Amino acid sequence: MEQPTFPGRPTSSFPTAPKSSAALRSSGPIVGLDGSIPSQAATPFASSGPVAEFGSSFTPQTTSPFFSSVPAVGPQPANFRELPPPIRPSGPSSPPSYQVQNVGSYQQMQAPRYHPIAQSSVPLGSPPFIGQPRGPLYTGSFQPHSQTPAVSMGPTPQSSSQIIPRNNVPQLSEPSFTATKIPSQPPLHGYSNVPPRPSMPSFQPDPQFHASGPVSQRPMQGFPPAHVPATHASPYYAHQSIVPPPPPIGGPLGYTSRDQLQHPLTGPPLGGVQSLVEEFQSLSVGSVPGSLNPGVDTNLLPRPLNGDEISTKIPEIYPLNCHPRFLRLTTHAIPNSQSLFSRWHLPLGAVVHPLAETPDGEEVPVINFGPVGIVRCRRCRTYINPYVTFTDAGRKWRCNLCSFLNDVPAEYYCALDASGRRSDINQRPELCKGSVEFVASTEYMVRPPMPPLYFFLIDVSVSAVRSGLLEIVAKTIKSCLDDLPGFPRTQIGFITFDNTLHFHNLKSSLTQPQMLVVADLDDIFLPLPDDLLVNLSESRHVVEAFLDSLPVMFQSSVNVESALGPALKASFMVMSQLGGKLLIFQSTLPSLGVGRLRLRGDELRVYGTDKEYTLRLPEDSFYKQMAAEFTKNQIAVDIYAFSEKYTDIASLGSLAKYTGGQVYHYPSFQVAIHHEKLSYELGRNLRRETAWEAVMRIRCGKGVRFTNYHGHFMLRSTDLLALPAVDCDKAFAMQFSLEENLMTTQTVYFQVALLYTSSTGERRIRVHTAAAPVVTDLNEMYNQADTGAIISLLGRIAIENSLSQKLDDARQSIHLKLMKSLKEYRNLFAVQHRLSGRLIYPESLRLLPLYVLALCKSVALRGGYADAPLDDRCAAGYSMMILPVSRMLKLLYPSLFRINENLLKDGKESQEPLIQLPLTALNLDPKGIYILDDGFNFVIWLGRMLPADLVSNILGADLAGVPDLSKVVVFEHDNPISKKLMMILNQLREKNFSSYPSCRLVRQGEQPRELSLFLANLVEDPTAGSTSYVDWILQVHRQSQS
Ligand SMILES: [Zn+2]
Repeated sequence: MEQPTFPGRPTSSFPTAPKSSAALRSSGPIVGLDGSIPSQAATPFASSGPVAEFGSSFTPQTTSPFFSSVPAVGPQPANFRELPPPIRPSGPSSPPSYQVQNVGSYQQMQAPRYHPIAQSSVPLGSPPFIGQPRGPLYTGSFQPHSQTPAVSMGPTPQSSSQIIPRNNVPQLSEPSFTATKIPSQPPLHGYSNVPPRPSMPSFQPDPQFHASGPVSQRPMQGFPPAHVPATHASPYYAHQSIVPPPPPIGGPLGYTSRDQLQHPLTGPPLGGVQSLVEEFQSLSVGSVPGSLNPGVDTNLLPRPLNGDEISTKIPEIYPLNCHPRFLRLTTHAIPNSQSLFSRWHLPLGAVVHPLAETPDGEEVPVINFGPVGIVRCRRCRTYINPYVTFTDAGRKWRCNLCSFLNDVPAEYYCALDASGRRSDINQRPELCKGSVEFVASTEYMVRPPMPPLYFFLIDVSVSAVRSGLLEIVAKTIKSCLDDLPGFPRTQIGFITFDNTLHFHNLKSSLTQPQMLVVADLDDIFLPLPDDLLVNLSESRHVVEAFLDSLPVMFQSSVNVESALGPALKASFMVMSQLGGKLLIFQSTLPSLGVGRLRLRGDELRVYGTDKEYTLRLPEDSFYKQMAAEFTKNQIAVDIYAFSEKYTDIASLGSLAKYTGGQVYHYPSFQVAIHHEKLSYELGRNLRRETAWEAVMRIRCGKGVRFTNYHGHFMLRSTDLLALPAVDCDKAFAMQFSLEENLMTTQTVYFQVALLYTSSTGERRIRVHTAAAPVVTDLNEMYNQADTGAIISLLGRIAIENSLSQKLDDARQSIHLKLMKSLKEYRNLFAVQHRLSGRLIYPESLRLLPLYVLALCKSVALRGGYADAPLDDRCAAGYSMMILPVSRMLKLLYPSLFRINENLLKDGKESQEPLIQLPLTALNLDPKGIYILDDGFNFVIWLGRMLPADLVSNILGADLAGVPDLSKVVVFEHDNPISKKLMMILNQLREKNFSSYPSCRLVRQGEQPRELSLFLANLVEDPTAGSTSYVDWILQVHRQSQS
């Protein structure tokens, strides 16, 4: 493809990616209608223009209250992206304030200061010239933005959450809560088609798709309506020819049949007493003969020694649902009434991981409907899915979310067989799989799909230079250049800064990059508006030359200042036309210009007061305002923070929080310790497939409404999450509530839709659909609870609460939910069974007390001032807000292994799987060596009486010669023990590709390191005044009885 340069200047050079339909068809496995089908004028799906208005009489979507009140967050639906403001809208040109810095191999260059308007006035293909304004190219869709970023913000991101309070948990538990109507839903916007990227496993069409057989577990499919019992009078059953398959009789769910589930009043389960006994788990909390502990036999305490236990029950019962890796409900049983809901006490919600990595062979199928367009409900915009039903000999389909009867587009028509099923059902993944990805047609498009864009903002003050991280960052970026997604459209650029800003001209015609220094921090301008952002493949040699020289360029610097705020504004100016990812490498507290921050981590006296939470909030609204502007312009921000001193992660992290980004924290960065971790994690960030300029919405059936969302995103309207970039390492949590006092449906459906641009420039919509039964029985809600989803949601809520409350209050509110739920559950059984000496809980929640305890001991929420440095606490909070369920659980309850035997034995025995141990120091043997793995770091604990030769083999030296273990790097030495240790560590790392655990060594009794690195993670022990697991269980039991 002819590929003009694609710099930050406006528009004309948007590379229009090739249309996908032809290429997709040639690639085979993608399923879709034949592109040759003629006009679809008779169908509603051919309507052009922005997506929205099918059936406009049902849901007018043209206005959203959100847009009018909070302009900062997003433009109007049809105007989803605006031209950015002029780079410097104000004022006559002042004398150039840049200077050319003489650095190494850099060319020196004298350049006039470009007037900002001139930048946007450069005609395509013409040399830049000055002074003549030019209008925006996309005049139909893009409106020039007349205000500067700093003043046009309107309400900050915080104010967006006022529309949907994120922390209104009490609201959910109010029986009398009456929800307001669902606001109108602005449409998702889509873009054009390009071929799929061949090396993109999780986005590839399933090559087995055509060959795959029918979904096997559909026993009730095709039951004619007459077979449905008359009691099922709802529209759902009346029109249902494909219903979710029933659970197996006597299945593992605790209820014995679907009828029982839906008609609990028809009598107790078959088997009566036996099944009742198995309804709940219990733990004796009276005195146990032979136990040292007077209360509880610690061996019987439930522990997650097998990691996250994803329920296999739901996929068995609902094979048409998306896999739980994509969506997990806190309980897979929706209460039918407010009064039932009010007795649940735990949050009702979901954890959504839309781009979760899939095992080989389970890739999400890609579907191209071609010119027919994606089949969606006219009324509620639900995407066609396995739970819709076809009627009228196949000419109509009924939406499973809103029951609207839609016409089947002529091109999509297929006759029904004798049982009422479409005869082509097994050739259509959208009708038999819970997760699919649609290729979006041009009608979904308001601008050409953006190219992948990576912009690096690098602090080069003295601490960054001395720590050695510049070299690692430069080398890592260089090593990733071949793998950045989106070749040949990928764009790249750099700004470095200390007390001045350094712009780097990477124009492809240069042999060496040029650096231009701007010292005026109050009046930021771009000295080279055209060549700061370049096409990587064209400027590859200049980019490499830049990265080669970066480590030495500032090596003699003694500059301690950091003008991050002005550098952010400059980055925004460069990126705002296209969007993309902004990666910030920050080594010190921002000290100059707008957004400068002050030291506040040591304000001990604030802890425990009503002001305590303010330390965890951004100090300067500048960062939230910038975040809003970034999101609006499709820019996601990742923060890499390295300082040993306070850098105000609370403020910096808000850039990531509201832009769908991520906070990477390497406190007290040391090259030897952190080199591999930084290199791996930066490499993963750059190489992993990224979904660009995305929006996500989760729809649900009548009677249920999503109210609060938790994670890193910006709410663009009441239910639309703006995600400038999203990837397989980001998960989101959300809460829903009941809209009606009494639900009349038997099933609630959920549908997650993520609309995004792939790195190849294709617009796609990933859709996950799931069904859950509506129940009338509280016990059923508890039995279907998912502890992983609950704790992921509770954790996010608690972290958000810690931004407006004392830590103690945030912890107490989780305690309270746990207590209330167990008390309620106890009331179901305890009285009639006289179980006063036992703690009663449903099997599904057996680990909840432990995880709640662990959550309260996590770095983000533990203790008070002295228990975690403020930056560590805030970084942990930001990190937990995006974690998928399994990583959250592992962080809360890390794996502990004893490895002596694996190190000492030969052959097969050394390969034996590691056995996970309870997290208590009682299990630690002074002759033992243990690994603690929380998914982010390894800590190796060396017992005091560990044989000296074992230690020296691991260290590569005698312990006596190693005075300071904090400086020791674990690497492979030339002996079998060291080699085995490295093998074990690598095996553990292969279980989790999201981050790279670095490895620290700590010796028994080595304080304070042993406590902070290791013992504080043994969550079953009483550390730093916190409760032990045993005491916690006693406390829970006591309170659940009261
Ligand atoms: Zn509908």
